[in-house]
Amino acid sequence: MKKSILYFSIFILFLGCSGLEESEKEKIRKMNATGEYIYRSSDDTFFSIDPPKRHIRENYPWEESFIGNQVRITKEFFRCMGSSQNPPLKKEVSGQPAYTFDCGGMLQHSLPLMNGKEFTYPVLIDLLNYVQERTGKKVIITCGHRCPTHNTYSDRSRFNQTSKHMIAAEVDFYVKGLEWSPERVVEILLEYYANHPKWSEDPKYVNFQRYERETNVSMLPWYNKEVFIKVFKKDEGRDLENAHRFPYVSIQVKWDRDAEEAVTYSWSKAFNGYLRY
Ligand SMILES: [Zn+2]
Repeated sequence: MKKSILYFSIFILFLGCSGLEESEKEKIRKMNATGEYIYRSSDDTFFSIDPPKRHIRENYPWEESFIGNQVRITKEFFRCMGSSQNPPLKKEVSGQPAYTFDCGGMLQHSLPLMNGKEFTYPVLIDLLNYVQERTGKKVIITCGHRCPTHNTYSDRSRFNQTSKHMIAAEVDFYVKGLEWSPERVVEILLEYYANHPKWSEDPKYVNFQRYERETNVSMLPWYNKEVFIKVFKKDEGRDLENAHRFPYVSIQVKWDRDAEEAVTYSWSKAFNGYLRY
């Protein structure tokens, strides 16, 4: 017990001595310290900082796939809707039964190819997304690409034999919530060109005309340099994909803005332009 008191006293003495030494050092430092004023202007800086600018936040990857509340339309929405589950269609030819079979749909063939990649004319995607953006409503694509087999299966009418659906240059659709106002949808499509940063100054794109020759619709179609727009009323243009009860809008591409050439149907493009799996 006595020993521990002795050690404790030595420890306290040691602490006291080192404290004294520190305060002595501080006194000497203060005695020898000199000072001087620092002179500088209020705008002196070591480096300059640019005034802050307001930036709009970039979208996260998952936000890119939406337009408002609607899923952004991509070429995936244009895939052929044929199905090997569809039963063969029977028709009498010269007294003999003939059967038309459907294709296997997207499981058995690709979209048309352009430069080795699957493809749909970008203007169709842009126009449909514009409609979604302007209306806040969902565009329902009833028919995008139709391979030749499914084209025949779906609609054997004369007008359909050279359909641009086969080369992914045509789309049929209606807008959920505007099912009975297809003309309003057409107005928005025309507005796309009037507001387009590149085409709004070009009368060939902005000025639409009405097509007065024979077609398969009663309402005169609209056209500019790039697209041809038809409205099918509720009793017109019914085929396998458009077996619904609504009027619908059809857009065909007339002019390829990237390749700067007319877009026309050809047997070779329709039949050889895609991969079969
Ligand atoms: Zn098909």
